[in-house]
Amino acid sequence: QGGFNQNIEYIFKVVLIGDSAVGKSQLLARFARNDFSFDSKATIGVEFQTKTLLIDHKTVKAQIWDTAGQERYRAVTSAYYRGAVGALLVYDITKRQSFDHVVQWLEELRGHADGSIVVVLIGNKSDLETNRAVTVEDAKEFAERENIFFMETSALESTNVEAAFFMALSEIYRITS
Ligand code: GDP
Ligand code: MG
Repeated sequence: QGGFNQNIEYIFKVVLIGDSAVGKSQLLARFARNDFSFDSKATIGVEFQTKTLLIDHKTVKAQIWDTAGQERYRAVTSAYYRGAVGALLVYDITKRQSFDHVVQWLEELRGHADGSIVVVLIGNKSDLETNRAVTVEDAKEFAERENIFFMETSALESTNVEAAFFMALSEIYRITS
């Protein structure tokens, strides 16, 4: 930190969406605090967390919003999406249903958010390879068709978490700067 956060040049709001229990809160905990919990209730009530980072030598503050158990269909309010320039759309690679619902989440997102919003599809829990129910190929193909980014992550093992957020934030930076 130090002088690092004194002249923030950009603030980017990014929302986490996707079915309940796919690991949204733990991805955020890992990214913002390098923390992980097996108890999913640990972060309930937290609206958003911030992390300041450097992109292209500029100080960028990422404001990452997390749902607090409003993941039922259409329960996420438009206030949640307001002003968002990025979205991480998360499914669980061991839960086929959470991937099947990505279509609905994308539809809801496109109904609420700005047309230029940067979307990264995230297949989380890549550490549970033996229980895999969604292939990388299926997800990649879907992402290409929808013109969104894609990455698999593990919040538990800290695999690709930074990379996924960085992918979203650097693309947002690229199109806004
Ligand atoms: P949310 O409802 O989408 O916010 O999901 P949570 O972040 O609360 O996570 C739901 C459950 O999945 C919790 O028990 C987490 O510990 C677990 N979990 C989250 N990410 C991972 C991961 O990458 N790997 C594994 N094995 N479990 C995870
Ligand atoms: Mg949560």
